[in-house]
Amino acid sequence: MSKIIFGFLGMALLCGCQNQQLYRETRVLMGTFVEVTSPQPQAPAIVFKEISRIENLLSKYNPEGEIARLNRSGKLKVSPDTYSIIKKAKEFWLASDGAFDITVGPLMDIWGFTDKQYRLPSDEEIKTALTRVGFDKIILNDSNNVLQLSVSGMRLDLGAIAKGYAVDCAVKRLKEAGIKSCLINAGGQIHALGYKFFQPWAIGVKHPRTSGTAVNVALRDESVSTSGDYEQYFVKDGVRYAHIFNPKTGYPVDSAVISVTVIAPDGTTADALSTAIFVLGKEKGEALLKKFPQARIINLVERK
Ligand code: ADP
Ligand code: MG
Repeated sequence: MSKIIFGFLGMALLCGCQNQQLYRETRVLMGTFVEVTSPQPQAPAIVFKEISRIENLLSKYNPEGEIARLNRSGKLKVSPDTYSIIKKAKEFWLASDGAFDITVGPLMDIWGFTDKQYRLPSDEEIKTALTRVGFDKIILNDSNNVLQLSVSGMRLDLGAIAKGYAVDCAVKRLKEAGIKSCLINAGGQIHALGYKFFQPWAIGVKHPRTSGTAVNVALRDESVSTSGDYEQYFVKDGVRYAHIFNPKTGYPVDSAVISVTVIAPDGTTADALSTAIFVLGKEKGEALLKKFPQARIINLVERK
């Protein structure tokens, strides 16, 4: 099928066969490129609006957002959106035996991932940071949506789950608007809504070490998420330090996994599980998946 692509106010109309037009638009949100493809031209605007709403709430970099405010004050009554994603994060923390933990903020800070000034912290710094890490140190009040960080210096970081959640929220808005077909790709966090003209959407997952595709998959009403060591990392004395932490040791994860791609019915689950499996490694990761029968690994690359 030949494709003629031309721009229209930042929107590309991908023309295929007659009556099979696709609109595509890309915007930078949540620190990545969010690309929306749909036969319905109104889909991208709906997706961008909802993802930016969630980004504003959950980004630790937005000083007015609820997570940044909670990180500063240590106690905050939050919106139902924020409260529910923290509850979800707790489920994954419990299921993964603490491998998935949104309290890794202090570790992201001392290793320089927060401000991109990468460095090796001292043992003392790691020890101190670890006293501020652990989901058990978050107090949740279901009766009034108040969240409390029980140790001073704690910092929540929703980087491993917020994109998946934002995409889920966007899919909900698309459905409310009657849109039945749409592909959202938020920097590798992908959801396929419905069919692409009577066929599942064809997705290629990037290989972690080459510019090629590692695996192709046909997707309909499911999410894909990849966690790897190849997007945010630094190398010091020949050692690669990536942005996913073992919350128990305070060090970047050093399991043999360099990339793992998970499919699940929703983005939140796919996002959290891909990060958790990256931390746990292949065997324990597969054991974790047994608790989520609707989720599966489609690609797992280990260091040779
Ligand atoms: P990406 O952000 O590339 O999609 P992930 O979904 O795997 O990758 O999320 C990685 C991010 O999750 C890190 O940048 C950090 O914000 C956060 N994080 C790091 N380690 C953990 C962990 N053990 N549990 C939960 N979140 C983590
Ligand atoms: Mg994730």
